Amino acid sequence: MNHSGVRDVEVVVIGAGQAGLAAAFHLRRAGWAPDRDFVVLDHSPRPGGAWQFRWPTLTYDKVHGMHALPGMELTGADPQRPSSEVIGGYFGRYEQTFGLRVHRPVSVAAVRTGAGGRLLVETSEGAYAPRALINATGTWDRPFWPRFPGQEVFAGRQLHSAQYEGPKDFRGARVVVVGGGTSAVQQLLEIAPVAAATTWVTRRPPVFREGPFGEEQGRAAVALVEQRVRQGLPPRSVVSVTGLPMTEAIRRARASGVLERLPLFARVTPSGVVWADGRTVEAEVILYATGFRAALDHLAPLRLREPGGGIRLDGTRALRDARVHLVGYGPSASTIGANRAGRTAVRDIRRLLDGAAQPARGEAELAGRLAS
Ligand SMILES: Cc1cc2nc3c(=O)[nH]c(=O)nc-3n(C[C@H](O)[C@H](O)[C@H](O)COP(=O)(O)OP(=O)(O)OC[C@H]3O[C@@H](n4cnc5c(N)ncnc54)[C@H](O)[C@@H]3O)c2cc1C
Repeated sequence: MNHSGVRDVEVVVIGAGQAGLAAAFHLRRAGWAPDRDFVVLDHSPRPGGAWQFRWPTLTYDKVHGMHALPGMELTGADPQRPSSEVIGGYFGRYEQTFGLRVHRPVSVAAVRTGAGGRLLVETSEGAYAPRALINATGTWDRPFWPRFPGQEVFAGRQLHSAQYEGPKDFRGARVVVVGGGTSAVQQLLEIAPVAAATTWVTRRPPVFREGPFGEEQGRAAVALVEQRVRQGLPPRSVVSVTGLPMTEAIRRARASGVLERLPLFARVTPSGVVWADGRTVEAEVILYATGFRAALDHLAPLRLREPGGGIRLDGTRALRDARVHLVGYGPSASTIGANRAGRTAVRDIRRLLDGAAQPARGEAELAGRLAS
């Protein structure tokens, strides 16, 4: 603690989802001790990152391509259990096993330039002055709501997929689902059998991807997102670069007409939606499964954004401030990407802080924890 009540640490990690925990693992492995050399802050109530909030009908078998955190596999999970419980439990065990001592619920309000070349991280438990920052705040806190004229006069319910709690709320209702991503399709498929009617609306015609999504396709998708981030543009949604995976359930839904899609409507009316050509659909519910944006408002004082609205990175390092790393952002916004980004960020920060790490000690200690 320095004289002004601000705690000096080497690194602050904001966020304890996949990206933040992967980074914390690599910090430990590099010899840094939690609560002495680094702190992990997270404003959610429980372990699990955004997974803890995902709807109960998103069972573990519906999650595709979830990569384990570094150093500990997720084994023996019941595929029928909600992924929020499975992954929340796994993240909790992970934090315990590696002694990561996540501080929660602790909210970071702002990060600014501090004294003596340090950053100043203002949080609900006081301020920290780290020499480097790993930001791993994901997107869940910033659901994206599209704007349509007339939304304010709609007599029914409008909700975002982040508020979706399963199909039971849609029984007997006429429902408009907006959005072309995986969440839109999964929720539409759940709602259709219980709703009076469903209408699917997307900005662009959806692209269904046949066949496996292997490493090569993964690399190509990441390269596309990387390209935008390099240009200082905000990253696009994952589905815009990967397409929607064709599954048996989707094939059936397509055959039954549930996935017949309409372009975006022009306006919301009190009783539904209307297109420019005069076509109308009556509805009691509009569900916006329109994705999320990166939750980065707390970094605004650092002025990292380019005129295009994005933050340019070299690897995970912000080009405008070499002390700041973004993990789980843009090209690393997947579970595998987040793992890799955590490792890259720590390697870079070790170089920046020059010699602060003691890898041999950290690795020996971790090996001991895994063995016990
Ligand atoms: C429905 C859905 C299904 C998905 N399925 C898959 C899949 O099958 N496979 C896959 O690879 N990827 C999947 N993804 C993407 C994947 O979830 C993410 O890429 C990854 O888990 C995000 O991890 P993260 O650590 O970046 O963010 P998060 O898990 O969102 O964690 C961020 C953490 O930061 C905290 N935080 C945010 N702001 C602050 C603040 N100001 N102060 C303190 N704490 C803060 C939050 O509380 C949260 O705990 C899916 C995404 C969604 C929405």
